Amino acid sequence: MQPQFIGSHPAADLLNTAFEPQGQHVEIIGDGKALLEWLQVSGLLDAEQIARLSRKLGAKGLDAAAAEVRKLREWARAWLMRWRSAPGRDYSAEIATLNKTLANLSVRHEVTRTKEGLERVANYQIDTVEELLALLASQVADLVTEEDPSLLKSCAGDGCTLWFLDRTKAHRRLFCSAAGCGNRAKVAAFRERQREG
Ligand SMILES: [Zn+2]
Repeated sequence: MQPQFIGSHPAADLLNTAFEPQGQHVEIIGDGKALLEWLQVSGLLDAEQIARLSRKLGAKGLDAAAAEVRKLREWARAWLMRWRSAPGRDYSAEIATLNKTLANLSVRHEVTRTKEGLERVANYQIDTVEELLALLASQVADLVTEEDPSLLKSCAGDGCTLWFLDRTKAHRRLFCSAAGCGNRAKVAAFRERQREG
């Protein structure tokens, strides 16, 4: 199964690395190799960062990192589900956990030469599992600080468990994808009408 990038937000895409189409459990980041692939396709890390992380952690370390990422994801899922249904509640315990993880975020500043002249760029330094978890936690932090909780939605498709942030103007997005679940729902409704007619 291919990773799904239909979340319209990196935190939703993280949740979607585990899903249950028709009740069948799919795990996208089952091991270290799968984790690196997902990080690359998601665009969260560039090729150079991935190569360095891979070198620093080694195969065993990457497998352990994948397990930590899955743990963070399920923690985030549980909190985000509560957050979207009861956004006004006091989440100090969750915020403290998030902040503890965020504390490991480290940024490396570099001056590089571009066509326009010298430019200062800030790159996340991702050399350890803690720094990787902090990067993912910062996506969760972006979601809870910048987005409307009611717009974090699950796909209305039958048997689909994917999540997305509804960025449509009218806030009427129902499906993970119009071509997938949206189309299946349309066909099902059509058949239903035919049966009734
Ligand atoms: Zn769907």
